[in-house]
Amino acid sequence: MRFELADLPYKTDALEPYLSKKTLEYHYGKHLPAYAANLNRLIPGTTFKNLDLETIIKVADGSVFNYASQVWNHMFYFECLRPGSKNPIKGPLEDLIIRDFGTISFFKNAFAKAAESLFGAGWIWLVLTQNGSLQIMPKSNAGNPLRVGFIPIMTCDLWEHAYYLDYQNRCNDYLNAFWKLINWDVVETRYNHAILL
Ligand code: MN
Repeated sequence: MRFELADLPYKTDALEPYLSKKTLEYHYGKHLPAYAANLNRLIPGTTFKNLDLETIIKVADGSVFNYASQVWNHMFYFECLRPGSKNPIKGPLEDLIIRDFGTISFFKNAFAKAAESLFGAGWIWLVLTQNGSLQIMPKSNAGNPLRVGFIPIMTCDLWEHAYYLDYQNRCNDYLNAFWKLINWDVVETRYNHAILL
């Protein structure tokens, strides 16, 4: 099977001024297709050839894992953004964030602390654990919480290519922008689906 990329659910300039058209053109338009091309080059003729992406992420190691996970992680990341997010966190997900982190502000601080704790490239994940609680997990490189049985709800790409053109070394400014771009409708839908699993 060949892995095809889903279209970006908005235009490349739609996230301005928080993330520039140029960043999206490189990030979605160049980095992501390169990961997919490498994955499609590696899997023909291997035991992975008939597996879906999530299964490959759970069982593969080395380059196959890295490229499979980078493809999945990026689609998951781009899908949880939207132009100038005006929809606040609400409903059962807001209740659970408040139960597990105290306040929305504490939650955002915990997310920022996790980003600070990540040395080098990686991802910050919000996951639903097996016992039904929310947890923030930093993961290096292509790391994905599906590997350890957690269900991803939201992610922030902390590879420098995600923000360097717009923010250079100011990762905190990127994180502040990230909160303005989250599509909470998508995150809530993922949460509602996850609690049924
Ligand atoms: Mn990226």
